[in-house]
Amino acid sequence: MNWTPEGAAELARYDCRGCGGSGLASGEPCACVCRRVFQVCYRRFRVCAEADAFARVVTFRENRRGVERHLMWIRRNEDYCADFEASARRVLSPQLYRVFRLCHVLGAATDLAARRLSMSRSVLYDMVAEIEERVGRELALMQPYSPYPPQAYLGSTARGAQRACAL
Ligand SMILES: [Zn+2]
Repeated sequence: MNWTPEGAAELARYDCRGCGGSGLASGEPCACVCRRVFQVCYRRFRVCAEADAFARVVTFRENRRGVERHLMWIRRNEDYCADFEASARRVLSPQLYRVFRLCHVLGAATDLAARRLSMSRSVLYDMVAEIEERVGRELALMQPYSPYPPQAYLGSTARGAQRACAL
């Protein structure tokens, strides 16, 4: 995604010390913007993951970019969840990924996660903040099929749809 000053400022914290509310630091999204991107994508991840299996949409679409122009079925919710988790796997260390998996993917409460990982809650909070910034930066700068913004990601997969049905 190409970040404009206006787009970054919409997501920035007005009291951020890194960017002063502008959203950009050295031409790249500030940490506050990255955390906001993560939170937006994580909210969509939870909606996709918690959707009733029988209400999930399967779309039949044409692959226009490939050499073979064939039709295929796609599962948008599952694709979104997989891309979100793969983004985290790419940028996190094994220890941070373990925390991410426990706290974000599995949805463990903070107390339970801290006990399970044998660490204090303050250390866990610091690690979660680092995870949100790193993964958010990856999501914000990923090209060409970034999960952020979720509407564009989910809409792009449906753009070529010939018909959609709910199974
Ligand atoms: Zn900032």
